[in-house]
Amino acid sequence: SPALGDRSAPSTRGGAPTPAVLGADLEVPVRGGRLVPYANFDYAASAPCLAPVSAAVTAALPAYSSVHRGAGYASQLTTARYEQARHTVRAFAGARADDAVVFTRNTTDATNLLARCLPDGATVVVFDSEHHASLLPWPSAVRLAPPASPGEAVRAADEALAAIDGPALLVVTAASNVTGELWPIAALAHIAHGHGARILVDAAQLVPHRRLNLTALDLDYVAFSGHKLYAPFGAGALIGRADWLAEAEPYLRGGSASKAVTGGAGLGLPLETEWSADPQLRHEAGTPNVLGAVALAAACDALSATGWTPLVEEEERLLGLLRDGLAGIDGVHELSLWGPHHPRVGIVSFVVDGWTAREVAEALSSEYGIGVRDGKFCAHPLVRHLISGIGRDGGGDCADGTTGAVRASIGIGTTEEHVRRLVAALADLASRR
Ligand code: PLP
Repeated sequence: SPALGDRSAPSTRGGAPTPAVLGADLEVPVRGGRLVPYANFDYAASAPCLAPVSAAVTAALPAYSSVHRGAGYASQLTTARYEQARHTVRAFAGARADDAVVFTRNTTDATNLLARCLPDGATVVVFDSEHHASLLPWPSAVRLAPPASPGEAVRAADEALAAIDGPALLVVTAASNVTGELWPIAALAHIAHGHGARILVDAAQLVPHRRLNLTALDLDYVAFSGHKLYAPFGAGALIGRADWLAEAEPYLRGGSASKAVTGGAGLGLPLETEWSADPQLRHEAGTPNVLGAVALAAACDALSATGWTPLVEEEERLLGLLRDGLAGIDGVHELSLWGPHHPRVGIVSFVVDGWTAREVAEALSSEYGIGVRDGKFCAHPLVRHLISGIGRDGGGDCADGTTGAVRASIGIGTTEEHVRRLVAALADLASRR
């Protein structure tokens, strides 16, 4: 079984100290039983936990008690930690003072929550290139094809929104989980508002890599997940305009969401519920995931304290090395919607001639101790579009005839040595077929 030390390796980004990543000294078995240092290229799926995140959770554990309603000291402390976490996440996202910050389980939970809060008659406009978390919660949306350029994205959204009467919501990703490409979210927000519509930005892949400022970008809603932001699983957030949330039916019916319950069979009266008008309480029924919120907030704090400039500079340096390396291997083809020069975060997807994506991922793991992701990354229409765009038939290990792609994603904890190992391993694999 893998060997996992408890030492966390400190690192630097462009000379600036960065938070240590837990598990940086993980060793994994490769063919023949040898242990090698693990090279993790799967940050876009779930990023490893930062040491300050682990410390914050450990510090919160001793005073672990009920939240919101308990009068005891530990309850007060737990409530204060939970609400402080909300405050931290609000600041991290650059949200307006009157925006709601609803803790959810993850991005998928956040987009589904907003789907339940749409005003009557609202129309949703969404690109087929979205991750399923943003593509699927709206069964009757107006669907737009993956655009051929950022300008085409803006034009298509403009045209679709112009044809809609009544409330509308444009749903778009900030950074693609397949190609890493950054979407023109400020321009799309401007277009949406020009039509009296709102915009929801899926920021799941943006927030681990770039500063988010909801106010400066003039976004109405953003959604993201803690587990992609160097916190453990189980907490995410939906942040944005309070009115739709305050007017909608509670996402879950139960305690906290209910302000008062009156009547009842004993009184011979119908049971009446007055739901909380506070959009946060209204949509957080039941005991919340306090430790998840604490972890998410600690990750936000750790990234903000490091500063985005050194993080982005080092990410771009490593991503450049990786992409140059891939471009130099015969038979490796990077996927991109808007060409090799469009700005992107540290995510690269590619196919290798003569290999299915699964074969590449398995060989990288079993022969080199390198962890990547393969498949269609919960963005099936986009991956099919990109693979057919490079004229590859895909070879057929999936029901729809495409094999999907290999995805390598980087983050804090990725080193130049990891990148060189991945490039060398891929060159070796590509040369075998
Ligand atoms: N949106 C994007 C762009 C993603 O990459 C992901 C996860 O892969 C999600 C949404 C869904 O995130 P979660 O599984 O945490 O709900």
